[in-house]
Amino acid sequence: MWDVIIIGSGISGLTAAAALSRAGQKVLLLEQHWVAGGLTQTFKRGEWQFATGVHYLSGMDEGNGPGGQFRRLLDWLGGDVLRFSPLANPYDLVHIGEFAFGIAHPKARFQTDLLARFPDERAEIDHWFEQADAAVEAASMLLVERGLPGWLAAAVRFWKGKDIEHFARATVAEALAAFRDPCLRAILGARGGDYGAAAADAPLLEHAMVTGAYHAGAFYPVGGPAALAKALVPVLQEAGGKLLLRADAQSIDLADGRIAGVTYARGGKLYSEQARHVISTMGLLNTLDRLPPDAAPAWRKAALDLKPGPAYVALYLGFEGDIAAAGASSANIWLYETTDAIDRFWDHPDDADAPGLFVSFPSLKDPAHVGGDTAEVLALCSADAFGALDGGRSGRAQRRLCGGERANRAAPACAIPPPLAGPRRDDPLPRSFHPAFTTPLRPHATGVDVWTGSERCAARKWRTQNPHPGTRPATRRTGCNRGGGAAKRN
Ligand SMILES: Cc1cc2nc3c(=O)[nH]c(=O)nc-3n(C[C@H](O)[C@H](O)[C@H](O)COP(=O)(O)OP(=O)(O)OC[C@H]3O[C@@H](n4cnc5c(N)ncnc54)[C@H](O)[C@@H]3O)c2cc1C
Repeated sequence: MWDVIIIGSGISGLTAAAALSRAGQKVLLLEQHWVAGGLTQTFKRGEWQFATGVHYLSGMDEGNGPGGQFRRLLDWLGGDVLRFSPLANPYDLVHIGEFAFGIAHPKARFQTDLLARFPDERAEIDHWFEQADAAVEAASMLLVERGLPGWLAAAVRFWKGKDIEHFARATVAEALAAFRDPCLRAILGARGGDYGAAAADAPLLEHAMVTGAYHAGAFYPVGGPAALAKALVPVLQEAGGKLLLRADAQSIDLADGRIAGVTYARGGKLYSEQARHVISTMGLLNTLDRLPPDAAPAWRKAALDLKPGPAYVALYLGFEGDIAAAGASSANIWLYETTDAIDRFWDHPDDADAPGLFVSFPSLKDPAHVGGDTAEVLALCSADAFGALDGGRSGRAQRRLCGGERANRAAPACAIPPPLAGPRRDDPLPRSFHPAFTTPLRPHATGVDVWTGSERCAARKWRTQNPHPGTRPATRRTGCNRGGGAAKRN
């Protein structure tokens, strides 16, 4: 009998496993893949090492303030072995046609840079940042409220409920409508890919929390995303827990209406393990699928109202030569054809041409990177194209499909922009910087992959179902967008 069985060894499962192990619980971690880490992995093709699932992380600075909160948490969980390297500053470069703008931290610098570039919209820019601050404060109260006793939580809801409700209902598109300059609107709306939603659907609260987290800096795990599993799995094992790879959870088992364990398939056989608690991190709908059909009917009904999140196709490129000398840096690049492409980006994922792309050079982010330089290009795509692939597990067919139109057309975007003048790190972006495709370098290794599967709230639908005004339901929200969900013995 295990204290806890956790399904899925992504960062959710790994952190839960490490925290429970540190609290003296015996944990069995089940992972269907032959590699631990979920979306956070590294893989090798030839001499090139590629990274998945992380382009930048927040909360990782070395200080004692909120800017270092996740680093401190990971220090505790992983035993102080993880290191994080800062990205260049500006850390997000927005390119719209020939127009370019670098988003820098801290917030004051971002705001000053915007005011310098768009002096006629001073009042609107100041208001945008005031709203974002208020939204973050409201969201923080929402999180605090979850951990309080009922009477105190009710007081917080009474005090801050209206603010939370307001910023959860207001969309990014509504807030952007205040700006006259389409380039300014596009800069501020360019990073919807960070939270997987179009401006018209994304709550301002979500935008403010996700993008605001980088005001204290943007970081990358030294050793790549795989460093996370490398640090956290031993914590589980040293506490008497076990990680089982190639263990595909088939059902979450109940006895007398309570959680009793998990049945999983491994090597063509079925096994059952008992536990007092089960935590599932495989996504809400996958979790429901593994529960008996009559279990948790209210929860099931709410969950089935969610619609699938967007899917992305990722193109991995390995280079020969010095891409930093050719102008690439550790900053992320958000490329859009035109200012309205930040909206069109979400509209027709079936079209062969993507109106926007995300480009990143992981090898330049990781000081411990081994092998040739690499790039990753992401485009939105339709998950329907992969529907026939048995949940995306059929690797060869997946690669064939992903080699299709959209990924191939994304390839030229990886041509390296011309060199920046002066030092590349911590250097403001020159006005003339643009991603002209004039590189002397050519990518040598390519591969493609597809990311699908998390569920996302239909924002407006969720709002009308919110059980208590001014708050967001934790269970439903957890399962949205980031793929989570938990079943627990009462
Ligand atoms: C391309 C891309 C770029 C991203 N960039 C960033 C970024 O820059 N910054 C950031 O903060 N976030 C980023 N994210 C998001 C981040 O990677 C994810 O939110 C996070 O890794 C999700 O972790 P998870 O543990 O919830 O889920 P996952 O990592 O998906 O883990 C779920 C695990 O469950 C396993 N599983 C599923 N079904 C079963 C089963 N039946 N039995 C056993 N195991 C099962 C899966 O194999 C998987 O290992 C990015 C995501 C993608 C796709």
